[in-house]
Amino acid sequence: MKIALFPGSFDPITLGHVDIIQRALPLFDNIIIGIGVNSSKKNLFSVDQRITWIKDTFSSEPKIIVEQYSGLTIDFCEKIKAHYILRGLRSSSDFEYESIIAQNNKLLDKHIETIFLVSSPQYSPINSFIVREIIINKGDISRLVPAVVLNSVKVN
Ligand code: ADP
Repeated sequence: MKIALFPGSFDPITLGHVDIIQRALPLFDNIIIGIGVNSSKKNLFSVDQRITWIKDTFSSEPKIIVEQYSGLTIDFCEKIKAHYILRGLRSSSDFEYESIIAQNNKLLDKHIETIFLVSSPQYSPINSFIVREIIINKGDISRLVPAVVLNSVKVN
């Protein structure tokens, strides 16, 4: 079984994340979307809300599982038997940051491979931090997030 972990904060899930997940689906038997819970990081949305949005976005996709975790990503990989970590690359700054994380993970566990997918051109400007700022300031996020997030943010 080829199992990949796609770790992130997904605060909230964006169309950039959805694009990476959909393009990775043919490569793996299962993709576990892992919401990393870090007590020192201030989030806008609760973990439960973020999980619900991801589950609703992929409700018709049985290969996708959503879980939360804390601690080292490679320890969670071992727990869920994932040999692959999936990450998206938007820019050269993502590459610099991500390659260091991937190399450190390799030092910690040589069996884990990090697989990078380059974002589709229309999604590379999207990042969760900017989406949160637009939400807080009541701007238009219709081209940035999946419909479930859009509809639920509109109601609140
Ligand atoms: P962000 O970096 O937007 O705050 P996360 O921390 O949840 O989001 O990131 C999880 C993963 O998703 C990372 O590998 C990140 O590079 C990737 N990612 C986030 N947004 C995009 C995007 N627009 N296109 C491609 N990959 C993305």
